Amino acid sequence: MSSFFLIFSFILGTLIGSFLNVVALRYNTGMTLNGRSKCFSCGKNLTWHELIPVFSFLFQKGKCKKCKGKISWQYPTIEIIAGILFAMIFFVFPPTTIEASFNTLFYIFITCLLLIITIYDVKHKIIPDPLVYTFSAIALAKLFIAPDLSFAMPSVLAILSGPILALPFALMFLFSKGTWMGLGDAKLVLGIGWVLGFFMGISAIVLAFWIGALVSVTWMYIVFRKMKSRYEIPFGPYLILGMYLVLLFGIQVIDLRPFFDYIFF
Ligand SMILES: [Zn+2]
Repeated sequence: MSSFFLIFSFILGTLIGSFLNVVALRYNTGMTLNGRSKCFSCGKNLTWHELIPVFSFLFQKGKCKKCKGKISWQYPTIEIIAGILFAMIFFVFPPTTIEASFNTLFYIFITCLLLIITIYDVKHKIIPDPLVYTFSAIALAKLFIAPDLSFAMPSVLAILSGPILALPFALMFLFSKGTWMGLGDAKLVLGIGWVLGFFMGISAIVLAFWIGALVSVTWMYIVFRKMKSRYEIPFGPYLILGMYLVLLFGIQVIDLRPFFDYIFF
């Protein structure tokens, strides 16, 4: 894989990330994707050089050129994250053949869905059903497609890994009446289970809990030590982060298989 190709996929990722920001922002607001992007403070139509991913934000120091209104950090952050994810997906799942390209395209497509889910969940603390169902459905459908793009019958464990991993989250939702976990998290885990399979899926969930706990504790004791208000951090983005860590760096990140061997065999 040439470095030129990786840089190209990073730039492609920031451009698509920039578009996903707009999609997430306008989702469920009744706004279409047709209108021009505007400044939220003064309504100024943005020109092409104010819409260059990451760079426009840096050159304008995070402010609107006309009214100096602040531009959200969400934009460059999502653009950079999308760029990194795209570059890594092209690196780990390179489109070397037509069959391999299908694989690359699958991961690029679910990445777009998961980024919109992430933005929306952070903003509104809700995972939109149509997005998470689409993600789960195509993750399930892909199990039936062999690497040579012919039909394949997946193993029972592969099919069950989604529901088995989602079940504890659905139960947490029921028992806590939605205070610990939203039902959206269960739907998300359903798809993550189908993408990663049972064992890698468990690793992703454990990672999500660890990172989530670490961030929450840091937030409570360092950032907002003096504040009494409870800060609710949605769990969806941690699950998605856990999935990418395991997907892109392999099960080596956290391998729990010896633990299962120890318990069950
Ligand atoms: Zn403005």
